[in-house]
Amino acid sequence: MITVQSAIEIILDQIKPLDTERVDILSSLNRVLGETIHSVRPNPPWDNSAMDGYALKTDDIREASPENPVELKVVYDLPAGQAPKRGIVRGEAVRIMTGAPIPDGCDAVVMVEQTEKRSDGSVLIRTHASIGENIRLSGEDFEAGEAVLDEGTLIRPAEIGMLAALGVSNFLAYRRPKVALISTGDELVDINEIPGKGKIFNSNGYALSALVSECGAQPIHLGIARDTKESLREKLVATEGADCIITSGGVSVGDYDFVKDVLQEMGSEMVFWKVAIKPGKPLAFGMIGGKPAFGLPGNPVSARVVFEQFVRPTLFRMAGRQNIFRKTLTACLTKDVKIIPDRMNLIRGELRMERNDFLVTPLEGQGSNLISSMVGANSFVIVPKGSMGFKKGSMVKVQPFDLSMFLGETYDY
Ligand code: AMP
Ligand code: MG
Repeated sequence: MITVQSAIEIILDQIKPLDTERVDILSSLNRVLGETIHSVRPNPPWDNSAMDGYALKTDDIREASPENPVELKVVYDLPAGQAPKRGIVRGEAVRIMTGAPIPDGCDAVVMVEQTEKRSDGSVLIRTHASIGENIRLSGEDFEAGEAVLDEGTLIRPAEIGMLAALGVSNFLAYRRPKVALISTGDELVDINEIPGKGKIFNSNGYALSALVSECGAQPIHLGIARDTKESLREKLVATEGADCIITSGGVSVGDYDFVKDVLQEMGSEMVFWKVAIKPGKPLAFGMIGGKPAFGLPGNPVSARVVFEQFVRPTLFRMAGRQNIFRKTLTACLTKDVKIIPDRMNLIRGELRMERNDFLVTPLEGQGSNLISSMVGANSFVIVPKGSMGFKKGSMVKVQPFDLSMFLGETYDY
């Protein structure tokens, strides 16, 4: 039996990011930048007003106060989107809107609430101001020529906003891995067929497809291969064009478990591991023509666990991501967990927060065939290899699936 850590190392040792391609900004969310992006002009591009008000000279209003306002001549209006008509001289002001460029000669903006417009085209200013007040300086966000987004950056909405602010509509990003999915088993029928005696639905094909999508990769749903070498070969031929191959089922030592043999025939140096992980012990892995191929176990929970620990980091690395592993946190166990200490155990758990403490409850029914416990789970409790388990009240490592949507409390607005 091989440890989880060695299996991860052996797999990732062979995985490189895919090549890059030019993508449109609107389809770039959750991809990874394949080039460093430089700004061609500063942001803001010019000094501009942070307020609706009056752009003026601070010297003119040095003595101004509510009791003792100073009168200035309003020489023109300047909405956002227009260039200043001219600069000002002493005694003048420009009525300015937020975002409009500061005219020459102005060194502050007084907000409109501290002024009073008069019918004769002048304005009363009821406050003094310091130099630069309510002026947003050119380049205070970033300067021209600055590397504002590094190659390898994950593209989130914030990065999309930055790219758009730079006027960049397309750029290089790492390709999204195309992942071919094959379910194996004579007992399987597709979900829109009627299952006869001894038949079950192909749930793995759909769950794995969703897991692949969740990683930002593109699933290619190839359906069901029968438990014959011919049927498997036929499906594997259809994986051409994919960047990664995932099968489920047929990797155990049963009489019809041909997946590893057929993958091997396809030219792959297949390793067949009994990985010290529960659920999920059998795992086949190899490279076929430079593409990773995973033979996942058939039991739905095992397939999920193996996907999470081995396939997810692989797909992330292929997609150019730097951060490829789920993080863990420490939580207090609300019930005893007992296991057989020969493997690392991943216990489906329900993680929650109470008065700033993380609590995790192991779910009932930990069998690797029990889909319902996967539905109830939002995390895995990690029981390391060699441990007999933990007593209620122990602090344990937990790997949450997603944090912000279930942990803590909704803010009471
Ligand atoms: P296997 O690894 O092929 O021996 O399968 C182990 C168990 O997982 C068996 O009970 C199978 O029926 C079940 N199984 C295999 N493939 C799937 C699938 N695609 N969807 C649901 N269950 C499956
Ligand atoms: Mg099978």
